[in-house]
Amino acid sequence: MGRLEGKIAIVTGAARGMGAAHARGFVAEGARVVLTDVRPDLGAALATELGDSAVYVDHDVSDWPGWQDVASLALSRFGKIDVLVNNAGILGPSVPIAELDEDDYARVCAVNQHAVFLGMKAVLPAMIAAGKGSIINVSSISGIVANYGFPNAAYVASKFAVRGLTKAAAVEYGKYNIRVNSVHPGFIYTPMMVEAAGEEGGDATGMIPLGRIGRDDEVTQLAIFLGSDESSYITGAEHIIDAGMTVQ
Ligand code: NAD
Repeated sequence: MGRLEGKIAIVTGAARGMGAAHARGFVAEGARVVLTDVRPDLGAALATELGDSAVYVDHDVSDWPGWQDVASLALSRFGKIDVLVNNAGILGPSVPIAELDEDDYARVCAVNQHAVFLGMKAVLPAMIAAGKGSIINVSSISGIVANYGFPNAAYVASKFAVRGLTKAAAVEYGKYNIRVNSVHPGFIYTPMMVEAAGEEGGDATGMIPLGRIGRDDEVTQLAIFLGSDESSYITGAEHIIDAGMTVQ
């Protein structure tokens, strides 16, 4: 029996990178998954690969009416929502604050931060009605420290905010047996990482105690644990998965 047998999950930013790995891993562990993204070709292809256990919805996570549609579709198609993985994220331009355009700042916050609020708001009514749920909010080590303030202050601010939103939600909804945790990856090999730091991760590996960049499926194992009943007494916590990068 899979570790997520019978569970219904929504994974945002599921067309590529870690979101795609989570979708694959969740289905392999017995879940059925609503994949959302703004890359219809990649997203639809992954849903086809995963078969009846997956459906793709084109949805910009910063759009509230779209969130209501995503939640409605999950309920009409699969009957419930057990797990939400707020994974979609963007970097924005690699510039310091004085050179950061106000619109770029706002867009990074809209996708990385505000959308996490919207996603939780969309699924909480169904989770409250069910008396259970697990929400996994993807932050970053940039939500723990700004030393690796990469790539800009908007990214750091938005990822710190995800940590705060997570704790507030954990406190508010614990009484409904809804758990809310944040995940803080370090350098993980994905299209985003390659776009930002190059194939080899630039100078990053020298700062990683385990001496290598992480794999998306390693983060998926953490997401599976947090989505499953194995983590039934864990909420409001920061789960750092960075091979020791932030302990130095
Ligand atoms: P990625 O760019 O490879 O994948 C992100 C996915 O999110 C893409 O498919 C993209 O189309 C989608 N997306 C972007 N904007 C969206 C929007 N407005 N609505 C819906 N979908 C949208 O990135 P990744 O590396 O897989 O990152 C996944 C998450 O992990 C992000 O939140 C990122 O900030 C975080 N993270 C990544 C790393 C890393 O090293 N890769 C480290 C720490 C945190």
